[in-house]
Amino acid sequence: MDIGSIGIVGAGQMGNGIAHVCALAGYDVILTDVSQDALDSARKIIGQNLDRQVSREKITSEVRDEALQRIRTTANLIDTAKSDLIIEAATERETVKQAIFEDLVPHLAPQTILTSNTSSISITRLGSRTDRPQKFMGFHFMNPVPVMKLVELIRGIATDEETFEACKGVVDRLGKTAATSEDFPAFMVNRILMPMINEAVYTLYEGVGNITSIDTSMRLGANHPMGPLELADFIGLDTCLAIMNVLHDGLADTKYRPCPLLVKYVEAGWLGRKTQRGFYDYRGEGDPVPTR
Ligand code: NAD
Repeated sequence: MDIGSIGIVGAGQMGNGIAHVCALAGYDVILTDVSQDALDSARKIIGQNLDRQVSREKITSEVRDEALQRIRTTANLIDTAKSDLIIEAATERETVKQAIFEDLVPHLAPQTILTSNTSSISITRLGSRTDRPQKFMGFHFMNPVPVMKLVELIRGIATDEETFEACKGVVDRLGKTAATSEDFPAFMVNRILMPMINEAVYTLYEGVGNITSIDTSMRLGANHPMGPLELADFIGLDTCLAIMNVLHDGLADTKYRPCPLLVKYVEAGWLGRKTQRGFYDYRGEGDPVPTR
């Protein structure tokens, strides 16, 4: 099946990045959100990010203008329903995602493929609540979307081959690389990455090293581009904790228990870069300062 139009639900940091790369690849994009502010700011951010690509000579200004023209925004979810492919990228809460699919189902075109960008929620369970579990998949982009090359494609138990191949075709056209994952808690990237971040927080909690020495160790000793605590601040500590809880609940193994220090940072509202404070304090003018 040929995909020509893509509906994106949720215009936050992931949704706007997904709209950006899909429009650049030539798809007609319709982006929706419950918040008009989110839609306005998504359009602004996409424009700024495309401008940056023009100034770095990665794209021409004509390509930028054409991409922007391919993106339509709407506050009405149902306007996205006739798209060939829908990518849901709303808040990581199962009830929110379920309600979106429930509202969309009566209005979908017969060929529409439904996907979710969820980081951790069961694709099989989300798909089973729709009229088309065979046309339902996980389409998991990495943050920041215009930069990161990977997309995890997750088959639910009922997903058919035609749906998988159509989604794989989209990933190829976006110039990204697909990695195929079975539908188990947190899929592959976060199944491996989050326990490492959680272990870095335990290393801090137990006083084995301080924030600077832990991050320096992994940057220079394991050649990671960012230390694990720096990376946790970038992802958001609430997101890291939510994914650890999904692993712990879903796999029932104590090796996934979230570190109490991670819980404490989240309870304090120190969620990382998005709140200006996490394992580092970003409020000053100079370099971020470790908070422990
Ligand atoms: P975000 O908070 O930046 O954006 C979420 C957006 O969804 C908000 O603009 C909100 O207004 C909107 N929204 C909420 N309810 C809605 C509804 N009923 N209909 C339409 N829009 C609605 O979050 P984000 O970081 O962009 O994450 C979105 C999804 O992507 C989540 O499922 C998350 O797990 C996943 N994800 C996030 C990352 C990451 O690093 N942040 C990486 C990969 C995947």
